Amino acid sequence: MNSQFEQVADWLAVSEFSVAFTGAGISTESGIPDFRSPGGVWSRTQPVYFQDFVSSGEARLEYWKQKAESHADFSQAAPNVAHQNLADWEAGGRLRGIITQNIDGLHQLAGSNQVLELHGTAREVGCLDCGWRSDAEPLVKQFLENQTAPECPECGGWLKHATVSFGQSLPADVLEQAVNWAQASELFFAIGSSLVVEPAASLPRIAKSHGARLVIINRDATPLDSLADLAIRGEIGVAISSIAQEFDSRQSPS
Ligand code: NAD
Ligand code: ZN
Repeated sequence: MNSQFEQVADWLAVSEFSVAFTGAGISTESGIPDFRSPGGVWSRTQPVYFQDFVSSGEARLEYWKQKAESHADFSQAAPNVAHQNLADWEAGGRLRGIITQNIDGLHQLAGSNQVLELHGTAREVGCLDCGWRSDAEPLVKQFLENQTAPECPECGGWLKHATVSFGQSLPADVLEQAVNWAQASELFFAIGSSLVVEPAASLPRIAKSHGARLVIINRDATPLDSLADLAIRGEIGVAISSIAQEFDSRQSPS
């Protein structure tokens, strides 16, 4: 019955360079809504584009309103069993690292150290002018108290969450490292992503074309399922913990 999970555990045991790519789906079991589900982020609000953020005070106010709202989700969320197992695999030398589209910081909270954040992090705020950075928490609090977009304490510049907004490009160095990992990987997991936006759509292809085994774990079908060595359709928490159980049972001889 568990043959899919046994198969992946076998691959994980022999791979010298395993990488996990994660999307919003890995965090839904932590209570953070994903992108496309009903009730998901953009079914409720229109995102503020970067161009509007820098050109309009009204847009900056709207941005901070939205961010203060989603901050409530993030700050109360805790890593789930899938985040935890990936962190354990890194600690045990089985996982080189994680490439994530998520901005929630839950991989690091679970204990993962090697995390490439393609879209930045919502846990920090940065100044667009001087680069000053701060924890997001006190600035969100400040915004909620006075309903004014906060300014940089160093230079008076505009403060924005350290995430990639629509209209901004991905950080080139992070993307380059992600491509390097995909090329070097022997086992590449794509977990909880619809695999339709870039670079999510490309990284599994890059891994596969450089010889990696590709394992996709997602509730819904993705356009890359037919490319995968194995596409597991189901709940992420169940799938990852089943793989981890199979893997652990090999390590401890009975
Ligand atoms: P997506 O919303 O496009 O796809 C998520 C996928 O996860 C879906 O196909 C869904 O079937 C699957 N899924 C959801 N919960 C699942 C579960 N418990 N078990 C199995 N599968 C499950 O996500 P994406 O591809 O990451 O793209 C979303 C974009 O929105 C990204 O740009 C991301 O940065 C951003 N985003 C991030 C967060 C976050 O930080 N947690 C949350 C929402 C959106
Ligand atoms: Zn500044």
